[in-house]
Amino acid sequence: MGKLLFFVLVALAVYLIVKKGTRSLPPKEPKREVEDMVRCARCGVHLPRSESVMSGGEFYCGEEHRREGKS
Ligand SMILES: [Zn+2]
Repeated sequence: MGKLLFFVLVALAVYLIVKKGTRSLPPKEPKREVEDMVRCARCGVHLPRSESVMSGGEFYCGEEHRREGKS
């Protein structure tokens, strides 16, 4: 009987540790690098889509290159 109680306590302790361990893991946060990178059709530089200028289905690094167009 004493052995059984010991095993139950050990199992309970392991269960609690595992449960606590998994709970303390931080939730996976989306990485900022996930933002789409686009390539300037004029000079080929890579930049985040949000900073790019789009024209005619092509991305450009700036207004100047957009005007100059695809090389
Ligand atoms: Zn460019």
